[in-house]
Amino acid sequence: MTENQILDIFREHAALLEGHFILSSGLHSDRYLQCALVLQHPHIAEQLCSELAAKLRDLGATVVAAPALGGVIVSHEVARALGVRALFTERQEGAMTLRRGFGLEAGEPVLVVEDVITTGGSTRETMTSVEQAGGKVVGVGALIDRSGGAVDLGVPMASLVTLRVQNYDPANCPLCKSGIPAVKPGSRTK
Ligand SMILES: [Zn+2]
Repeated sequence: MTENQILDIFREHAALLEGHFILSSGLHSDRYLQCALVLQHPHIAEQLCSELAAKLRDLGATVVAAPALGGVIVSHEVARALGVRALFTERQEGAMTLRRGFGLEAGEPVLVVEDVITTGGSTRETMTSVEQAGGKVVGVGALIDRSGGAVDLGVPMASLVTLRVQNYDPANCPLCKSGIPAVKPGSRTK
């Protein structure tokens, strides 16, 4: 699938909105992504994640790990395509941790995946928790890289789509200045 075909799937499911949005961070943006609206359809999740898995297969991972909650379905479906285990990390007292008895062999090759990479912050935290558990991160995958390719995590990285999304401080948001009403996605009040 091409980037445009994948973006069309996101648009069809209202998972990629274009306009003027208030993000949960309080910043304003010209685009809004909600991957869960695409991933709620298991056959689409399976298709997208198997495309991502194909880009990462040569790295030889025997485990896929992702930060909960957003990454859980991606981890599961990429692991299904690769025929390996799927784990997830969760926050415990603020720190991303492998819980539930999940374990890694010493030096076990691990892929870290996400639905969306923005700054790479939660990806880095997941990489650290994998390494603390003895694993070796061999690559990172995301359905959508909304950093525009700017994030460098020090390992090979693949995504299905690279987007350059503009975020603005509301004080100097050009969309506010042009008088376009701002919308808070996922909320009934506008
Ligand atoms: Zn604005």
